[in-house]
Amino acid sequence: MGYNRLRRSEHKVDRNIKKIWGYAIASAGIGLVTLVYYRLIHVNPTTVALSYLLGVLCISAAWGLAQAVFTAIVSTLAFNYFFLPPVGTFTISDPQNWVALVAFLVTAVLASRLSERAHREAILANERRKEVERLYSFSQQLLSSDNLPELLNSIPRFVVEYFGVRAVALFLPDKADIYRSGPNTNGLEPHDLQLVNLRGEPRIDGENNRAFWPLRMGVRVVGSIGISGDHLPSRQSLEALSSLIAIAVERAGAIEDLGRAEAARQSDQLRSTLLDSVAHEFRTPLTSIKASVTSLLANQNLGAPQQHELLTVIDEESDRLNRLVGEAAEMAQWDSGKVELDLQIHSIRSAIEGAVEESKSLLAGHPVEVNVPADLPNARYDLARIQEVLTQLLENAAKYSAADSKIQFTAELKDNFVVTSVADHGHGIDDFEQALIFDKFYRGRNHRVHVQGTGMGLAIAKAIVEAHGGKIGVTSQPGHGSVFFFSLPCA
Ligand code: ADP
Repeated sequence: MGYNRLRRSEHKVDRNIKKIWGYAIASAGIGLVTLVYYRLIHVNPTTVALSYLLGVLCISAAWGLAQAVFTAIVSTLAFNYFFLPPVGTFTISDPQNWVALVAFLVTAVLASRLSERAHREAILANERRKEVERLYSFSQQLLSSDNLPELLNSIPRFVVEYFGVRAVALFLPDKADIYRSGPNTNGLEPHDLQLVNLRGEPRIDGENNRAFWPLRMGVRVVGSIGISGDHLPSRQSLEALSSLIAIAVERAGAIEDLGRAEAARQSDQLRSTLLDSVAHEFRTPLTSIKASVTSLLANQNLGAPQQHELLTVIDEESDRLNRLVGEAAEMAQWDSGKVELDLQIHSIRSAIEGAVEESKSLLAGHPVEVNVPADLPNARYDLARIQEVLTQLLENAAKYSAADSKIQFTAELKDNFVVTSVADHGHGIDDFEQALIFDKFYRGRNHRVHVQGTGMGLAIAKAIVEAHGGKIGVTSQPGHGSVFFFSLPCA
């Protein structure tokens, strides 16, 4: 407050000095013209009068009306005293000269008034141009954000920045908070903002240098803004500024609603895709189970080996059903972000050994090789989840490669991450499919029909690795095999 008062008084002193300069230069100019025509060059009185007039116009263009009138009066006196007979007195003998003198004075005053008005209008037009420029930049800034909370937080700051005011507060009836430009927004009280929002009428409090303005969208009031500062924007600017804010707030709100609707639509679509896929995958084991049970019931006197075969089918297919249900439920959990990790420090070897142990039955014909350097640092991970990732990669390696081919585990340190790879010598995956196999429900073109699966295994593995802050990927050469790898942050 004290600083502002100081600046205001500094301005006043500057203005006064400028005015005094105006009078001084005007006096010096008149003195010069008088000296030149009186002593040095002798010309007729009309030339002298025109020279004085030129001086008056210059002074009025550079300083203003007061200095111009001063110049006009002093010039008239000098003109009368030095150039109108009888020279050296203020008396005028010839009535014609009276007319000339009055004409000179009136012309000088009128011309200076016109010139001063043009000068004032130019300043005003310049100020208006600057305000329009400010409003334009402000509107650009407002439209640059689609995020409603971020926008609401930054609007008061933008107004302070673009319009040079001291403090700004923004009120929206459906938000609990009042958004402020900074900690020092005294005088912009919630009560005033609410009142202006309710009444829809602006309020300018000139005494305290404050203005409260409703934010209007057409006839609807969507909030209010309070501005305080020594130089408040003009009424028109405040009107435009509040409309711009109302539009920006409505726009960001609409984009947010649209985003929510789109997310809900995608989630619905995902759910129905999941249901379609699960229903399709469920039908196959269920059909086998149903067929086996029906045969068993219909043919009571089946031989023991046949009975055993049908019961084995029921057993295997029930397992498959169980796995399907588990994967579908897990996928849904990852999608909803409800999974919590139990992060502990482990050697990656623990997870690899656990996965090999778990998949023992599936790996019957495949020699498995594990290469983990003894000095490899530990990683920070959820043992059960990472074991699940490794089991998935291991089972895929076994499923998509020849029965007796080797599967290799390797682990190494890369840029503070422990990178674990599972390599097989199967058919491999072409470039096009490498980009798709981590998507939910995607199943390889060559495997869809002949190999059982859900297309969810790699998508779940990806979700688990990414939740640990790591990355998962594959490199593969069709015909030679694939290497699946993932990284985990070091402990
Ligand atoms: P699923 O195995 O149930 O089809 P996944 O998500 O585990 O689902 O795998 C997606 C697809 O990736 C598979 O259908 C298969 O085409 C391909 N794939 C996965 N692992 C391998 C592998 N080791 N070798 C070749 N193809 C693979």
